[in-house]
Amino acid sequence: MSKNNLLSRLDSEMFEAVWQIGRQADQKNLRAYVVGGVVRDLLLRKQKVFDVDVVIEGDVIDFARELAVFFKAESVLHPEFRTATLFFKDGMTIDLVGARSEKYDRPGALPHVAPGTIGEDLFRRDFTINSVAIQINRAKFGAVVDFFGGTEDLKNKVIRVMHAKSFVDDPTRIIRAIRFEQRFGFSIEEETLKLLKQAVRQDAPSTVSRPRYFSQFQLMLTEANPFNNITRLQEFKAYDFLTRVNLEKVHVLQRHLTADKKLRCTNEQRMMLYLLAMADKVPLSGLSAHLDKFQLTKEERALFNKLDTLDHIEGQLKNSKLPTSHAYSLLKPLEETLIWYLYYRTNKISIRRHIEDHLAETRDIRLLINGDDVKMLGCKAGTKVNTVLQSVLYRKLDGEINGRKQELAFAEEILGGLK
Ligand code: ATP
Repeated sequence: MSKNNLLSRLDSEMFEAVWQIGRQADQKNLRAYVVGGVVRDLLLRKQKVFDVDVVIEGDVIDFARELAVFFKAESVLHPEFRTATLFFKDGMTIDLVGARSEKYDRPGALPHVAPGTIGEDLFRRDFTINSVAIQINRAKFGAVVDFFGGTEDLKNKVIRVMHAKSFVDDPTRIIRAIRFEQRFGFSIEEETLKLLKQAVRQDAPSTVSRPRYFSQFQLMLTEANPFNNITRLQEFKAYDFLTRVNLEKVHVLQRHLTADKKLRCTNEQRMMLYLLAMADKVPLSGLSAHLDKFQLTKEERALFNKLDTLDHIEGQLKNSKLPTSHAYSLLKPLEETLIWYLYYRTNKISIRRHIEDHLAETRDIRLLINGDDVKMLGCKAGTKVNTVLQSVLYRKLDGEINGRKQELAFAEEILGGLK
């Protein structure tokens, strides 16, 4: 195969799967294409391509079922959306979708979807750079299908919508435009920029459900530079939530996260860290109405209420000589995400050391005695038992006692003092 074939840039397992999907499609007389972000990334010669989306002109559900058998892969089918996902044994996944056309009955609403051709499917997409396909049927394996000038726009590094109503139909594309602009260092093409600003002036974002707009926004927080993304969104006044957030804290967090070469927390956690930074030192009364509409879990929502306690904890942890038991008592009540926030909010070595020790070791230290042992020593009341156990644990954390015998002896000593 020619080196010029873009698909040869896929890694070998992915390439093999795509090739086989093409062959299977041939047998069923279906046209099949790789589309969207993967094609854009292949054209941009990105090193690693993770997600592959395949569009099928025809019955995708039947086809996906047969592919699952052929590959011995798991499949999840959504006949109502004409989409399917194949989960391969080695962890790779491929999304399949039936080519479709989309019509928006109302700005901001979800589109009305109908089966369509590859041309219609590419036309429904957000930007020309995401509207290029590569056919994978054998006879045309690797042929680039570019109806809307996507390859040219990629060369010229511009982001261009497919048509004038694009941002009004789906205002989440405002966020997507900025995200791609920032990620690739592209510019938003002049007419597209006008349309974007016009859509904001018409208050198009308010036509989208809050959770949908927010989940597009959350994706920005997984990018390399959320600060620039947020600043740009603010500049366009495209998200009312951002009028009150703490950009300075976002900047500090990003600096510290970027400086840390170790990947210490998950993408999900990083997203939450940025949300916490945005809300840090901002009166919650102004933000609550927004946060309540974001469909955060109850646990995630509760984290914001604890932000106020961090100054005090930070103040104490600054002391590098602080006993381990004291650091434990401060950190133990905090959820792990808040602890990470505390870690990256500061770059003070002493604070970070306490946190690293806590997460790596201290929080998991357990006693060798339990409540029954304390009761055997003559302590009856439940609350008292817990107080005794806590005191023994703290002494153990500080390295003053070691082993079951010393734990028991110390528990007895405390009980003596309590009587
Ligand atoms: P990323 O690298 O961030 O995953 P992506 O382009 O793969 O970028 P996805 O959100 O996975 O983004 O979407 C896959 C494809 O679906 C896009 O490339 C685009 O063609 C299309 N798409 C996604 N969201 C929209 C939208 N709101 N409107 C139109 N097309 C969209």
